Amino acid sequence: MTAFTLNSLAQAGNPLLEKYNTPYETIPFDKIKIEHYMPALEVAMKEHNKEIEAIVNNPKPATFENTIEALDRSGALLSKVTTPFFNLLSAETNDEMQAIAQKMSPLLSEHGNAITLNEKLFERVKAVNEAKDKLKLTAEQKMLLEKTFDSFAENGANLSSKDKETYKELSKELSMLTLNFGQNGLKETNKWSLQITDKNLLAGLPQDVLDMLAINSKKAGKEGWVLDLKATTYTPVMKYADNRDLRRELYMAYTTRNMLGGEFDNVENIRKIANLRLQMANLLGHKSYADYSLVHRMAENKTNVYDLLNKLLEAYKPTAEKEYAAIQEYANKKGAYFKVQSWDWAYYSEKLKAEKFDLNDEMLKPYFELENVKAGVFGLATKLYGIKFVKNSNIPVYHKEVDAYDVIDEKGKFVAVLYTDFHPRDGKRSGAWMSEFKGQKMVGKKDSRPHITIVMNFTRPTETKPALLTFDEVTTFLHEFGHALHGMLTKCTYESLSGTSVYRDFVELPSQIMENWGPEKAFLDGFAKHYQTGEKIPAELIQKIKDAENFNVANFCLRQLSFGFLDMAWHTIETPYTGDVIKMEKEAMSKTQILPVVNDAAMSPNFNHIFAGGYAAGYYSYKWAEVLDADAYSVFVKNGIFDKKTAASFRTNILEKGGTEHPMTLYKRFRGQEPTIDALLIRNGIK
Ligand SMILES: [Zn+2]
Repeated sequence: MTAFTLNSLAQAGNPLLEKYNTPYETIPFDKIKIEHYMPALEVAMKEHNKEIEAIVNNPKPATFENTIEALDRSGALLSKVTTPFFNLLSAETNDEMQAIAQKMSPLLSEHGNAITLNEKLFERVKAVNEAKDKLKLTAEQKMLLEKTFDSFAENGANLSSKDKETYKELSKELSMLTLNFGQNGLKETNKWSLQITDKNLLAGLPQDVLDMLAINSKKAGKEGWVLDLKATTYTPVMKYADNRDLRRELYMAYTTRNMLGGEFDNVENIRKIANLRLQMANLLGHKSYADYSLVHRMAENKTNVYDLLNKLLEAYKPTAEKEYAAIQEYANKKGAYFKVQSWDWAYYSEKLKAEKFDLNDEMLKPYFELENVKAGVFGLATKLYGIKFVKNSNIPVYHKEVDAYDVIDEKGKFVAVLYTDFHPRDGKRSGAWMSEFKGQKMVGKKDSRPHITIVMNFTRPTETKPALLTFDEVTTFLHEFGHALHGMLTKCTYESLSGTSVYRDFVELPSQIMENWGPEKAFLDGFAKHYQTGEKIPAELIQKIKDAENFNVANFCLRQLSFGFLDMAWHTIETPYTGDVIKMEKEAMSKTQILPVVNDAAMSPNFNHIFAGGYAAGYYSYKWAEVLDADAYSVFVKNGIFDKKTAASFRTNILEKGGTEHPMTLYKRFRGQEPTIDALLIRNGIK
């Protein structure tokens, strides 16, 4: 920790600015109050600026140590202040926190921009980069240098002053357009509603959905039931509503959002965003936005991305066609004398699935009591990696439901702190995630170990029942715990390369691989016991889980591929696109089409992942990660799913290494070869 002086009396007693007097210097949540954040932020940003100035004004020539390493070390106080804040903003927020975030975010982005646009600083970074071949750098140092240089260059630091201005304009315009794209989506979704007063029209919907629709209606001051386009309505209507016209009406409303004109139309925004991204990529010396964005991906270039998408398409399409034929046949048997359309697919699939597998959440939940699952998941890490989890009540937590654990290795050495936060609360956002309260790095010769947290929204215990998880929740637990292992077992020198700081199409390997243990009998037998009778989960039930997972798997795969192709189509353009948006989409998706094409519907105007989120030229990474996790897990299948040697290899080659080397290099060291799609095909029953 860098020394700093308190700039006014007002800072006295601000715990964020003091050394933490807690076990492992964990965050003293019990002492930090909301009013501490803003004053601490101000001090921390000033401190960071001083550190940057010291690097810039160093009279000695730029070296790896006095520039690149010094930059990696700078800002420690700033992350000490912002890390608890942004973690709690997701896990335990309130109006006051939200208001502070509104103030903090622009200050932080301005602060970050000032650093990446600091010309003197970039001169030094550039000087080190130009001398890189003469410097004797380790692989990790090379990676840090590359990452640092590119983070400046990708933000326009290497451009002429005229181009720099253009770059700034483009960034500004793009961030406004993407924000607007997402808001349009939300507003158009919220605008639509459908009131139904005849209950017969809603036949087939489960009672809890009907109740929710009745509440919607009451809220709107209306009679009957009010349907909207949120997932909580749309999904059950598509799956369960017997009335075909209703399904069609909802489907068409859903898939024509933001494209039929009006104030929230996104069609023009799509062209604008795609073309501005192209212009920005050109400015930075790339042919297309995909070329620009894939530089820092495991996939490396668009040829590799298309290669993956096409291979999967070829492998899954025949099965997808058979699946469609099976649904069509089933629909006919149920008296449907029409061709199964997009608005029929989920409905008949759901019915056939229920008949075939006779499996539902309620049948599995009694075997997945949270305490048992936790013992099973922690126990898996003990079996594979020899680490143990010891609850430590002396570590301060931010809510009474949060637990903190000392994670220790076989020799009793401290590895990490793990926090767990399992149940939903008003102040918690939905979903599940892993995050860091402190990253890992070497401080001189001392290994400063990480503090990791996993946050979920699992079914709560009731007065009469403990928390019983669905199988999906068990899978989510394994997934986030896999990210946590990546964070906890990391052994790097530099914080900006440690833990989960890896390329985006690699980051889901450690998490998704853990999901493979979920349906393994040898794993479940260790902990999945009925919470009342203690009876082990029956083998037939485990088999059903596996079979049900592959139901319509090829159609699901083709759907993901269609989004991947569409994303690539928009981001591989090499000249500005002025043509018809819907036509572009239909062409990009045509190869993946199994169900009859719906001419008036489209995905692009509401494709937030790529036009409002961070997945531009990156949607393929969902499938990329699946291929990786299946391929990596096949080594465990071959050597034994609890094989210590395989686990040790996965640990030292992947989990410990963070982003210190190119992911393909790391992967090949574990696997002995590049990944193939074969293991995924076998897992999905395609091969
Ligand atoms: Zn994940």
